[in-house]
Amino acid sequence: MRKAEKGGVLSVDEISSLLDVKEASEEARELFEVSRFLADKLLHQRGRIWCAIGLDYRPCKVKCNFCSLSEWWGLVEKVYEMPKPDVLKLARSFIEKGAHYVVLRTTEFYSPAKLVELGYDINSIKPRDVRLVANTGEVSINWLKKMKEAGFEGLYHTVRLREGIDTSIKPEIRLRTIKAIREAGLKLYYLVEPIGPEHTNLEIAQAIDLMRKLRPSLIGAMARNPVPGTPLARYGRISEFDLAKVVAASIIATLPMHEGVEAVCVHPPSKLACKAGANTLVVDYGAIPREKDFVLGAWRGFDVKDAKKMLREGGYEV
Ligand code: SF4
Repeated sequence: MRKAEKGGVLSVDEISSLLDVKEASEEARELFEVSRFLADKLLHQRGRIWCAIGLDYRPCKVKCNFCSLSEWWGLVEKVYEMPKPDVLKLARSFIEKGAHYVVLRTTEFYSPAKLVELGYDINSIKPRDVRLVANTGEVSINWLKKMKEAGFEGLYHTVRLREGIDTSIKPEIRLRTIKAIREAGLKLYYLVEPIGPEHTNLEIAQAIDLMRKLRPSLIGAMARNPVPGTPLARYGRISEFDLAKVVAASIIATLPMHEGVEAVCVHPPSKLACKAGANTLVVDYGAIPREKDFVLGAWRGFDVKDAKKMLREGGYEV
């Protein structure tokens, strides 16, 4: 922590040792103080709201052991794709309420042509400082370039924890898409996810190390939601403290070596993680890999106004 406080770059073992701190200990208090100190010093102190619209509720052919939408678990009974007017209405409403990011999320095989079309439409109604982001499958460089032209600022894409083991997509495929995202001139948005109780501190530290090496514009962490009927649900979920700890370690490991971070995100929303330096919260809507049913409304009732409140309580301007 002393090394990080002075701007030193931590090794993977050092990151892992940060994750060893115990809840309610003096070390934990110090960890969150150091991460917040670095976030305040090296980032702006403004809160950000990431509004995600899940466009397609349909069985996805990829076998992800945590995802409610994977066809392997048979949880999706009725296919539903959000009609374009509804997407535009929702995007407009998020923008009016104060979203900083409008994110179009899809399953792995959503048509990139449709995303491009939606990109042009949303770009025509959004102010310049609202960023349009896609969270979709392994898109080719040609489509990524078209998405950039349509007004997308970047893509959310990650190499997941135990990628290729708990998913049927190899890490190399994810990395190839991430390379193409950068080559297309798009920003990369990235979280360490989906964290469950079975992941070791070393695995998480290695995931943080990979994240920082990929130099994303958004960093942070997401906990897995145990959806009944998915294979990993049996492990349960991590605590809010454990999630905040990964956010803190991500800040400490990344900010001293990469100046391009514009936001630190935590999902699900956590006041503790905000205090530790997370300045970005997610409002989720529609088809959500963390939920069995299509969600008509904000996931778990957490809307833009709730995100603003939590961020302000965390000491951010929003
Ligand atoms: S996480 Fe994404 S790729 Fe995996 S099954 Fe769900 S929608 Fe498909």
